[in-house]
Amino acid sequence: MTANLSSFELGYDIPALPGMRQEDIYTPALIIDLDAFEDNIERLRAFCAQHNVRHRAHAKMHRSVDVARFQIERGGACGICCQKVSEAEVFARAGITDILISNQVTRKEQLERLARLAKTSRILVCADDAENIGAIAAAAAAQGVAIEVLVEIDVGAGRCGVQPGASALALAQAVTAQPALRFSGLQAYHGPAQHYRTYEQRKAAIDEAIGLTKATVDLLAKHDLHCDIVAGAGTGTFMFEGVSGVYNELQAGSYAFMDASYAAILDKNGSRNDEFRFALQLQTTVMSKTMDGQAVCDAGLKSQTTESGLPLVWSHPDVTTVTVNDEHAVLSDPGNTLAINDTVRLIASHCDPTCNLHDWYVGVRDGVVETLWPVSARGKSL
Ligand SMILES: *Cc1c(COP(=O)(O)O)cnc(C)c1O
Repeated sequence: MTANLSSFELGYDIPALPGMRQEDIYTPALIIDLDAFEDNIERLRAFCAQHNVRHRAHAKMHRSVDVARFQIERGGACGICCQKVSEAEVFARAGITDILISNQVTRKEQLERLARLAKTSRILVCADDAENIGAIAAAAAAQGVAIEVLVEIDVGAGRCGVQPGASALALAQAVTAQPALRFSGLQAYHGPAQHYRTYEQRKAAIDEAIGLTKATVDLLAKHDLHCDIVAGAGTGTFMFEGVSGVYNELQAGSYAFMDASYAAILDKNGSRNDEFRFALQLQTTVMSKTMDGQAVCDAGLKSQTTESGLPLVWSHPDVTTVTVNDEHAVLSDPGNTLAINDTVRLIASHCDPTCNLHDWYVGVRDGVVETLWPVSARGKSL
């Protein structure tokens, strides 16, 4: 799908137009290598089909209606996850009808907005607090809708979620006591484990999470509470949850684009993780070349984040990033291969917050711009 671009001015509102050559794109711009993107989507679709688990794609990563539709229509995703109500609103308005807020929603006005979404979409939300469950129920009842609740358990992340076992049972019972709510299962996501460096570290953490989750599912079953959904997993660990026989809904997000911090984790053989291709690239232009062995390009902190490390230089194997400032990235170019106006493509260290700095994705295939997709939910953090 191509956005209607007729009211946008090239180089001002939009970085490219379909049909342009890739090297003519205004920079800095986020590029999607469409072949790589489609391969990534297919790879996870095939994994889920093989292991008979659902994929609920995490849309907080891309914040794009077009990407979410592709994940559902071509990637077989059953729906999406969002982290924020305002983010979910963008996707719901675009016609996506199965949305989990994989997060806590606690403020009254946010709950009111969440309940309004449930008039047109299937809405699920996580909860880890009895009073909050009462507040979700009140908001749902006020709008005359049903909201589905996943009880969130802490399987090792040490952030949100009650302890597995009895505390989770008590909350599940609190949900079923509310006529406006439906108990749909458990959220058991281990965030930090996604980036544990070795395969063994990630497997050990998720094995433990699987054990805690299974014990909780079994305890609930003893009390006649069935978990339709047992959810969790991201790009770093889905291969464990996916074959566990306990989890049935995977939430990987970054797999679609990839980034440098995911490429830094190691696979089973101790090599760099190359399961997914680098579909997301930050295209930049060399703007200064005054020093021997160094070049400067035009993508700084306003077009990429560096909290997870420096970007990789994808287009030039011998070039590395030295530092990233507000508007510049300083590159080490030992062979002096770069000249002013050369195109350099970077792999952002962390895709989620980098995408949120841009208005558009430029979809490229075979060196030609094929489509522009808006970052539809950019900035929606309420
Ligand atoms: C971010 C997130 C994911 C997806 O993680 P990726 O690393 O992007 O694959 C899954 N579940 C939850 C709850 C998340 O917050």
